[in-house]
Amino acid sequence: MALDRFGRRIHYLRISLTDHCNLRCVYCMPEDTTFRPPAEMLQDDEILTLVQLFTTLGFDKIRLTGGEPTVRAHVVDLVREIAHTPGVNKLSMTTNGVLLRKLARPLAEAGLQRVNVSLDTLDPEKFHRLTRWGKLDDVWAGIEAAEAAGLSPVKINAVVVRGYNENDVAGLARLTLDHPWQVRFIEMMPFAGATDLQTGQLVTALETQADIEAELGQLEPANGGELDGEARLFRIHGALGDVGFISSVTAPFCELCTRARLTPDGRLRLCLLREGEVDLLTPLRNGATLTELRQLILDGIWLKPWGHGLADGVIALNRVMSEIGG
Ligand code: SAM
Ligand code: SF4
Repeated sequence: MALDRFGRRIHYLRISLTDHCNLRCVYCMPEDTTFRPPAEMLQDDEILTLVQLFTTLGFDKIRLTGGEPTVRAHVVDLVREIAHTPGVNKLSMTTNGVLLRKLARPLAEAGLQRVNVSLDTLDPEKFHRLTRWGKLDDVWAGIEAAEAAGLSPVKINAVVVRGYNENDVAGLARLTLDHPWQVRFIEMMPFAGATDLQTGQLVTALETQADIEAELGQLEPANGGELDGEARLFRIHGALGDVGFISSVTAPFCELCTRARLTPDGRLRLCLLREGEVDLLTPLRNGATLTELRQLILDGIWLKPWGHGLADGVIALNRVMSEIGG
């Protein structure tokens, strides 16, 4: 079992399958970003070895993310192997949805259980402005394909950015009236140097909630007031789905954190918003034994930081979101 020094049991692994992406969201990466060379990246067999290792330490929940996980070569085969690894009980993916139209069914057949699809606005022009390269129709078709393939309940992730989509939140929330989806609004996190966005463009979860309630009426607490992962859940009266708020910046949920992250270049990242990492790739390639690797993971997890330091002005500088796995 992987415990940290604060007594949290860490059993949820987010694997960033690649730092590459077919979009360039303004809050995530610059348009002219450069990627790491393939040789520095975890190969399929290395990912599978590490997944097996993590399951022996009690990790039972895995989310595949990126970058854009669906652009990784052989992603369906990789999903099949991970899904069939003993000990993996939950397997989901966070994706921009662009390729789901053709990949949703093969991914579901390979053993993927659910997807979170990022969608920040229902306005095609604003969507293009936010993602720089994206077409809203592709994502919408991807969401429909995911639902048809049984990758449900579908969760929609919307990062709210002042000057871009803060007026679109009620329209997104309204989707839950007719769809059994969870539409989650995420506070934008600062990653120094990665984007031109300023902290003033953060829209707090409270502000987003107030904007939604001004249009759609008071939201009713859902899920018995319990967090679902990191989201506080509510329901519009009579809706089929839920509206969630992820207030990572203004009201972090660090005490409930059960996560560790594996970066595309094989580092165990202990906190999304702190720089501390443990290199697993180098020892793996240098022939470390499974026992040695297991000990590296356990020692790293033990030192997992309590929480992020945004309130004290501490911002992680060494990586952007797409290299960590949001
Ligand atoms: N490409 C996939 C996607 O967009 O869903 C997966 C990777 S993306 C880095 C994972 C999640 O992080 C997405 O929901 C995205 O909106 C979110 N994200 C990216 N940059 C962010 C930022 N600066 N603050 C908050 N969320 C961010
Ligand atoms: Fe790509 Fe996802 Fe980052 Fe957008 S948020 S640029 S889709 S990795």
